[in-house]
Amino acid sequence: MNRDAALATPGFGDVFTDHMVTMRWTAEMGWQATEIGPLTPMSFHPATMALHYGQTIFEGMKAFWRPDGQRAVFRPRDHARRFNNSARRMAMPTLPEEDFVTAVETLVRADAAWVPEARGHNLYLRPFMIASQTALGLRPADEYLFMVIATPSRPATMEPKAMRLWAAPEYIRAAPGGTGAAKCGGNYGGSFIVQREAAANNCDEVVWLDARERRYVEEAGGCNLFFVEATATGPRLRTPPLSGTLLAGITRDSILRLADSLGYAISEEPLTLDAWEQGCRAGRITETFACGTARSIVPVGHVVSTRQDWAVGDGVAGPVTSRLRQAMLDIHHGSAPDLHGWMRLVNVGE
Ligand SMILES: *Cc1c(COP(=O)(O)O)cnc(C)c1O
Repeated sequence: MNRDAALATPGFGDVFTDHMVTMRWTAEMGWQATEIGPLTPMSFHPATMALHYGQTIFEGMKAFWRPDGQRAVFRPRDHARRFNNSARRMAMPTLPEEDFVTAVETLVRADAAWVPEARGHNLYLRPFMIASQTALGLRPADEYLFMVIATPSRPATMEPKAMRLWAAPEYIRAAPGGTGAAKCGGNYGGSFIVQREAAANNCDEVVWLDARERRYVEEAGGCNLFFVEATATGPRLRTPPLSGTLLAGITRDSILRLADSLGYAISEEPLTLDAWEQGCRAGRITETFACGTARSIVPVGHVVSTRQDWAVGDGVAGPVTSRLRQAMLDIHHGSAPDLHGWMRLVNVGE
């Protein structure tokens, strides 16, 4: 599919831009120079360590079209920092933050024409690192490959449909001391069986509970969760604390800051699945939304498990969810001032 046809068709992760960035690391030489070239399939030895022992980490971030014709990347430094946290947990080499940001900007500049113009559309950037050494010894690899690729994100509708979440207490995503706070491939591989179960139960995503008690809500697949609580002084936003078993979403952090500047009270407090249900039924919890780079901010309309099934609010996006969603889009696309310094402009020289 050519670029114009691809950008005109709704989709995500199905078509890729023309270029890719690569950077190699060896124990002997450290990081080598960044290279940019045409996106091409690659060949790997069957004993490449990443294929066997799962040393693979990734990031997901976005570039946006700006009204002045330039492009901007959302919080690249924060993604670089988190990438390095994941690298440390997986015994992989860290990458200087500046190199990470430069790699991402280099790709955005080369593929600037792939950044969709429409509000709510964007170019999704996927930096990742894999163990590239050919060896089968059980130890951290001595060679790694860092890459950045990109895919245009073209949502079918302006307003996302409310999600139905599937709560499955038989499975956990992450346990204390495990890899839940790292963005590593295995966390996803281990979750797909439940995602499939969710789909079989007419749900869009999984809601994960804590490993110890199987009661506390942690996050949804690839998204953090926020609950809107009604209080005498107005809505309060509540989200589970960063316990070490959930991913520290950059969208989560952005919403906490944005909510504060919009005058909403915020709290980082655990919530059990039962308290969530009772809160919704009693009208104390009026909205719930999921948030992450890939989906942005999406309302949760229903929560389903083998023993429960309840609606959140009216089962559609509530006013606080919509307001935060629009405020975030305004910052992304440059129609509101970037008071937090989140948008890194990429001069594409047009
Ligand atoms: C990436 C991810 C998120 C969301 O993080 P953002 O930085 O907001 O994109 C949430 N949970 C998991 C498990 C993730 O992998």
